[in-house]
Amino acid sequence: MSSSVAVLGFDVGGQSVKAALVDGDGAMLEHCSAGTGRATDAVALVETLASLRRRLVGEHRVAERVGIGIAGVLDRSGTLRGAPNLPLLTGQPLESLLGRGLGGSVVVRNDADCAALAEGWGGAAAGREDFMLVTLGTGVGSGLVLGGRIRRGSSGYGCEFGHMIVDYEGRRCGCGNRGCLEAYVSETAARQQRDEWESSLASAVDEHVAAHGGGVAEALFDLGSGGNGEAEQVAGRMVDLLGSAIASAINLLDLTTIVLGGGIAPGFLARIERLRAAVAASLFARPVADIELLAASRGPWAGAIGAARAAITSDVR
Ligand SMILES: [Zn+2]
Repeated sequence: MSSSVAVLGFDVGGQSVKAALVDGDGAMLEHCSAGTGRATDAVALVETLASLRRRLVGEHRVAERVGIGIAGVLDRSGTLRGAPNLPLLTGQPLESLLGRGLGGSVVVRNDADCAALAEGWGGAAAGREDFMLVTLGTGVGSGLVLGGRIRRGSSGYGCEFGHMIVDYEGRRCGCGNRGCLEAYVSETAARQQRDEWESSLASAVDEHVAAHGGGVAEALFDLGSGGNGEAEQVAGRMVDLLGSAIASAINLLDLTTIVLGGGIAPGFLARIERLRAAVAASLFARPVADIELLAASRGPWAGAIGAARAAITSDVR
């Protein structure tokens, strides 16, 4: 049995719920997960969370308040406002529903915000008061920490780095707007753009995916690193675009630390010099030497670990 009180954190995504039991220093003591799906409603979610809690608690002394990160936007009242992969939970007053269902106090936060908290709690951004986590995967997520606290804006809808407009007449984004960053530098974007590539590149990517698994963006980055010039050209443009968007965020918020995580982040980090050059090209009145671009270090359980952190540090509404 742990001598200190442990905290439970959950990360609720469109396909799975991850659960972590974390000690007061942010070390993960236990973890497990269960599947979810589009049919998940509040009743089913409470059952899943309760069953994961039973599996993890065991002999540990566990704090009554739990933290929950979820793939969606929450307003200030704890109601889920935008969660495309969890439609039956959208519009639900999640914080009070889950609190009642689990019989205790819960703190519900956006999953990328939770992942950012984890990176600041013994992760890549440990010791930094101000930083932004950018998660690059199916979409582009972000969590902004200023003065050591998550900043979600006046209504709770921020910070959506992936939906910054980089071309106002550009590609249609999954959010409905045109020209969002996410429509250019995500796995979804790479899949959509595949049809526009030279047929030699498209077939090389298809063959790579068939042979190695993974997504289109990962294949593109791997092929580029392996000497395929066409792949490297497309990959390089993605890197340049991300770099200029990062510079915009830095210019707006005066950040000096950006943490990159998510499934396709390694492809960008493998081109770190090009990424830094793209940031440098768009920085306003400051040298790129001021800026650190770091690899996220908390791994796939970051959201659950950060949710536990939110439970520790957040005031209950
Ligand atoms: Zn968008």
